[in-house]
Amino acid sequence: MSPPPAAPSSPLPAAYADDAISLILERRLTVERRPKILWVELTNKCNYACVMCPNAADVTQKRGFTFMSRDLFRKVVDEAASFDPFFAIFLGGESMLHPHLFEMIRYGKERGLSKIHLVTNGSMLTEKRCAETLDSNLDLLTFSFDGYDRKTFEYARIGGSFDEVTANIRRLLRMKKARGLSKPYTKIYALDLHHEGDAKFAAFFESFRDDGLNEYGVEKPGHWAGRFLGTDRFIAPENGPRFFPCHYLWKSLSILADGTVVPCCADFEGQLPIGDAHAETLLEVWNGPRLKAMRESHLAARVDRYGLCAKCDVVWHHAVDERGVPAALADPRRPVVKLNP
Ligand code: SF4
Repeated sequence: MSPPPAAPSSPLPAAYADDAISLILERRLTVERRPKILWVELTNKCNYACVMCPNAADVTQKRGFTFMSRDLFRKVVDEAASFDPFFAIFLGGESMLHPHLFEMIRYGKERGLSKIHLVTNGSMLTEKRCAETLDSNLDLLTFSFDGYDRKTFEYARIGGSFDEVTANIRRLLRMKKARGLSKPYTKIYALDLHHEGDAKFAAFFESFRDDGLNEYGVEKPGHWAGRFLGTDRFIAPENGPRFFPCHYLWKSLSILADGTVVPCCADFEGQLPIGDAHAETLLEVWNGPRLKAMRESHLAARVDRYGLCAKCDVVWHHAVDERGVPAALADPRRPVVKLNP
């Protein structure tokens, strides 16, 4: 069975299709407009140890497990409320492990954030948590589900149960449908770890259509800033020879559970600290000396001092256009298949 034609997703990637490329081509070190995306890590603890996740590759052991305090979360929300970014609650762990998750989402909604996005592995969606999710006024909910049957899923998502997570997702979808809710917008997101093609995933994900799933997307994995280069866990991309600055530096901030601000959601360990959300405002970090120094180094294509960036597949490309812009970034909207638009 072939998947339906891909189309741009509706609410999710508007934040990705932004002006970062123009700002890079204009060589801006200071970015007047606010960050389009915040990645906020409630915890780096996870109940899975996925084969393609740096968090399962000794990262958490180095950092220790942390849970973001409610005070810090409120500070981040209060500052973000003035520019209403795409507010992604996800980075290095499973957010449903945080005991105050739903209170935090409700706080964000009360403060006026209009695009709160929760990403979960779906393992903890009991009936109670499904109800709390639906009651929280969450905008977007993505299930990470990297497989299309028990074998592929349980290879990738070590510690997970295909049957349990499938049932949990259906439970949430059916409860939402029974209540007649339009929110949260729901998506299943999968990595095709061994490049098997979308059709196998499509055949399974189509089975969620009648439950009301809004869309699904399948992508090939990256190598997480070089961490999985040369491993045989999955097929990781080879870096290309053409460098283009990292668009995340002109687009987003990521806040780790301990308050360390890092430039991207690939920096699980806080190797590239650019600020401290306890002591600085997000906007001070956004045009602060450390992020501006990173932008300058990327514009000069001299990133050796930033170890993660030097190996990262986000900056090394195979093909670029006449402006030097990688084809993959010219239209960064992620392909999705809409089941219930
Ligand atoms: S290039 Fe650097 S800042 Fe950009 S995603 Fe990779 S590691 Fe993160």
